[in-house]
Amino acid sequence: MRAYVPGYQLRTPTSLADTLSMLASEPGVWKPFAGGTDLMVLLEAGKLTHRNYINIWRLDELRGINADSDHITLGALTTYTDIQANPILQNEFPMLCQAASETGGLAIQNRGTLGGNIVNASPAADSPPALLAYDAEVELVSTQGSRWLPYHGFHTGYKQMLIRPDELLTRIRLPRNTTGATHYYRKVGTRKAQAISKVCFAAVGRTNNGHIEDARVVVGSVAPIVVRCLQTESSLRGQKPGAATAQSAQTSLLREISPIDDIRSTANYRLQVTLNLLGDFITTLNS
Ligand SMILES: Cc1cc2nc3c(=O)[nH]c(=O)nc-3n(C[C@H](O)[C@H](O)[C@H](O)COP(=O)(O)OP(=O)(O)OC[C@H]3O[C@@H](n4cnc5c(N)ncnc54)[C@H](O)[C@@H]3O)c2cc1C
Repeated sequence: MRAYVPGYQLRTPTSLADTLSMLASEPGVWKPFAGGTDLMVLLEAGKLTHRNYINIWRLDELRGINADSDHITLGALTTYTDIQANPILQNEFPMLCQAASETGGLAIQNRGTLGGNIVNASPAADSPPALLAYDAEVELVSTQGSRWLPYHGFHTGYKQMLIRPDELLTRIRLPRNTTGATHYYRKVGTRKAQAISKVCFAAVGRTNNGHIEDARVVVGSVAPIVVRCLQTESSLRGQKPGAATAQSAQTSLLREISPIDDIRSTANYRLQVTLNLLGDFITTLNS
């Protein structure tokens, strides 16, 4: 069933200030419309219940990838194509580039945005595991000012998050602390392209003198939100990468995820694949 298009409103402000004023003047009435790759699917299916949108696609303030010595900062409208083309992201944040290259097909990669992927808040989305593993922060801006929040904790439940109706997600920043780290990202889907993840696994780790100094482990599609597995991470710290460590980490992981059966996969498959990937990550730390 298709939507009745004249029943919708789309306004196109020409500046960030005008956009924020619209959001502030009638909070909850207007919602951002970025690349539209999630919203258009709902529109076409006649399932887009919200009616009033602000087209933010032309806001230059939300574009660009900038680096200083501590961070790399991406505008919310950064597309998957932009991500893949950036040399700093390729060198220091390869999991984000890999996630971008495995998101949809070329048309989606040219139009879909990182900000849209975050706020759409699908637990099966492919960038959030990489962003969480890299300790990303997100900037929320309103007419009241700007605030930076850790991305970990931003999603509080299925499609629930810490953004107010008068706020826009404007930037995402990543600390440049990945030198010497092992990066491990696996998207498991039905096909190599145009597939929604059954499991999406991202982990970063560092060893020192044969022991795991630090590890971050994140899994998508196994709970109502993408999960950073803090207990599993602490079970790894100080251990030697090997079979015994893998086994105790897998026991921790079982307590931290709660996969379900759905149209794409079974809980059992998701669980087994996640455990296997964790074991493989730990083996990779050894090499
Ligand atoms: C064929 C197809 C394949 C796909 N494949 C994948 C895939 O493999 N992996 C994956 O993760 N996703 C996939 N997607 C989903 C989608 O492309 C991504 O989630 C994309 O990043 C959404 O970005 P967008 O700019 O198009 O968001 P939009 O559709 O414009 O918006 C999505 C939501 O975010 C809100 N929003 C957007 N920008 C902001 C902002 N700056 N501040 C506040 N709120 C905002 C909107 O109000 C809306 O609620 C696919 C979609 C399609 C149609």
